Amino acid sequence: MIEKSLERINTNSISCQSKKKAIPVYFSTNIAKIKKKLTSANYKFLKALGFKPIYGNWIVLSKNNGKIASVIVGLKRTKKNYSKFLISSILSKLPKGIYFLKNIPKTEDIDELALGFLLSFYSFRDFDKKIKNEKNFGSPVLNLPNFTNLDKTLRLVESEFIVRDLINLPANILNPDYFETYIKKFSNFHNGKIKIVCGNDLKKNFPLIHEVGKASSKKPRFIEFTHKGPSKSFNITLIGKGVCFDSGGLNLKSSTGMLNMKKDMSGAASVLGLAHYLIRSNLKLNIRVLIPCVENSVSEKSFRPGDILISRSGIGVEVKNTDAEGRLILADTLTYATEINTDILVTFASLTGAARVAMGTDITPFFSTSNDFANLLKKNGDKMQDPVWQLPFYEDYNNELLSTMTDLNNAPLGGMAGAITAALFLKKFTNNHKMFLHFDIYGWNTKSRPAKTYGGLMQGVRSLGASIEEKYQFHIKNHVQL
Ligand SMILES: [Zn+2]
Repeated sequence: MIEKSLERINTNSISCQSKKKAIPVYFSTNIAKIKKKLTSANYKFLKALGFKPIYGNWIVLSKNNGKIASVIVGLKRTKKNYSKFLISSILSKLPKGIYFLKNIPKTEDIDELALGFLLSFYSFRDFDKKIKNEKNFGSPVLNLPNFTNLDKTLRLVESEFIVRDLINLPANILNPDYFETYIKKFSNFHNGKIKIVCGNDLKKNFPLIHEVGKASSKKPRFIEFTHKGPSKSFNITLIGKGVCFDSGGLNLKSSTGMLNMKKDMSGAASVLGLAHYLIRSNLKLNIRVLIPCVENSVSEKSFRPGDILISRSGIGVEVKNTDAEGRLILADTLTYATEINTDILVTFASLTGAARVAMGTDITPFFSTSNDFANLLKKNGDKMQDPVWQLPFYEDYNNELLSTMTDLNNAPLGGMAGAITAALFLKKFTNNHKMFLHFDIYGWNTKSRPAKTYGGLMQGVRSLGASIEEKYQFHIKNHVQL
């Protein structure tokens, strides 16, 4: 549950108070320039090794008594492309001790360095017995006396660990029953309120969620978590796709396509992570998190290709493919969301393979009805090491969504512009909301990289969190509505 994710963070890993006895870390592009800072023996040792201060090369030097004297980290860039968070990940690998960054150049971003350092300690080995027997030699502590953003960085790391943990849990554990319990506990943790709709109420009021989830023994449900701000707060609605496992339904996925489908609730995980960040940031916000929670399974109760479903809004949908289930459960949720006033309406969903084909695993495409907000998101995406890119709600592609039987089809044939047609499908259910944002996330890291372990990954949340904060500050200052 949420506490377990928070326990993974060693909040003492960064210390902002000056420590006299901290071990110096020297950053260098030219060893001769730091010669004076080292003992003659240490300098000769570097020469003997032929140590080159190339970006990412590092070495620990010792005193005569065997204790650590200093650390040298190379910063000289060659033509090679370097991963984000490389330096912070190196610092996280240092032996136990307190380290002071002696001559960090202005070109290095301290926010990024601190975030990457804390993220580097994440691991998800909860089911691995061997890990319990491994000896823990202790972790390094970074001494950053002038760092003023520690609280914010810790909030970002908390959110990310919550999101990663949720995505990493296998579907035999994180099923709709478990997810409901988790969100109830999440709500208690934040003093929020929770509402669950299931059974006949779900069938009647959220027919598409019922249809998608009815084949599973773990019943489908609609989960609403609300957290109230002070009076006259802005209203933010965050919707996350909560497909705990996506087999594809009767349009069964291939073996490789199904392999990581425990991550099909990464949209739901992301909005919980974002809610956690915003609540912890104490902004004047009314936050509503809506999660349609299902397992897309195969049984005699499965919905079928060719079925015609009538949504909560009354719009009819012809099912062309049962694997395009995300947009169905989100459609009813969006209708519900816009039945009361909300200033910002957001969906996070691992929705289309087309988004991956267009952008790869790292860049999150998003759609926005506000170009101003889109520009803010892109700017913050770069600043927060969380790259996002705007794709258009290109209205002419609405033709692809037509059906010969009813109003819409859920999976246009040919699959061209699949991320855009999926976003246009969702937009039909937003009641023309003026501030609608949709993130088509991947939620997964395919290989271990600095500060990013293999597996669940939070995407789009840091850029959106920062943008909401910025917009909110602006509007508070100018006394205008969002
Ligand atoms: Zn699917």
